Amino acid sequence: MGLMTGKRGLIMGLANDKSIAWGIAKAVAAEGAELAFSYQGDALLKRVQPLAESLGSTLMVPCDVADEASVDALFERLQAEWGSLDFVVHAIGFSDKNELRGRYVDTSPANFAMTMNISVYSFTAVCQRAEKMMPNGGSLLTLTYYGAEKVMPHYNVMGVAKAALEASVMYLAEDLGRDGIRVNAISAGTIKTLAASGIGDFRYILKWNEYNSPLRRTVTQDEVGKSALYLLSDLSSAVTGEVLHVDSGYHVIGMKNPEAPDL
Ligand code: NAD
Repeated sequence: MGLMTGKRGLIMGLANDKSIAWGIAKAVAAEGAELAFSYQGDALLKRVQPLAESLGSTLMVPCDVADEASVDALFERLQAEWGSLDFVVHAIGFSDKNELRGRYVDTSPANFAMTMNISVYSFTAVCQRAEKMMPNGGSLLTLTYYGAEKVMPHYNVMGVAKAALEASVMYLAEDLGRDGIRVNAISAGTIKTLAASGIGDFRYILKWNEYNSPLRRTVTQDEVGKSALYLLSDLSSAVTGEVLHVDSGYHVIGMKNPEAPDL
């Protein structure tokens, strides 16, 4: 019997085998979870399908979170196939990469609204629908980044969005807690993924984290997966409204490591 045996969950945000969603999917599947995957559009299916099938999943549903009808269709499909749900992983974020460089102050209203809709509101939209499928409680998890708490170079509007996402986690935890539904976030350290490659000077940020984190290294998708297993399983049954840092401890550091090489 695994920690997740008998639990059914939806993984949103799998793009390829570098995705944080993939690290999480592997960790929960290894403990017996039954998984469904949503993917952004047809172009991604050829990558998502073999990965999902390798974990024994046959339930793959397209969903563009910018389109409410598409989110409705995803949950209607899950309702028809499964009837109930135990957990959801929301590993989705997006902003125009032209605004993930330069100054935050220059953010355009259109990109501000789009970034907030896809990277923040979509988690609330997912929680609204998942709540109805969780009569026996459940666990909802999103992914955030330290750029919500402190200014990180080039993170710009995405940092503002992650701050709003972390605030949503608290409000959602309060709203859904009385039904036994827990809502948490993982603040992951920097990892080279498709989304991260859109951030200006990302390699510099990776190196900086490696030299200056207490553990003197970056983190892997699999390590985020193990912490997600804790938040998605009953091991964290009294934990909600939490932002768990899985970042080699980077968030506790106040100053550059004097032994770190110059970058
Ligand atoms: P990724 O590119 O593998 O995943 C991002 C996913 O978002 C993709 O699957 C993409 O299809 C999906 N997406 C974007 N717009 C969408 C839309 N309109 N509808 C549906 N899906 C959409 O990159 P990742 O780094 O694994 O990102 C997952 C999450 O982790 C994001 O929220 C990201 O901000 C967060 N995060 C990443 C890092 C990092 O360093 N990589 C650190 C902390 C937090």
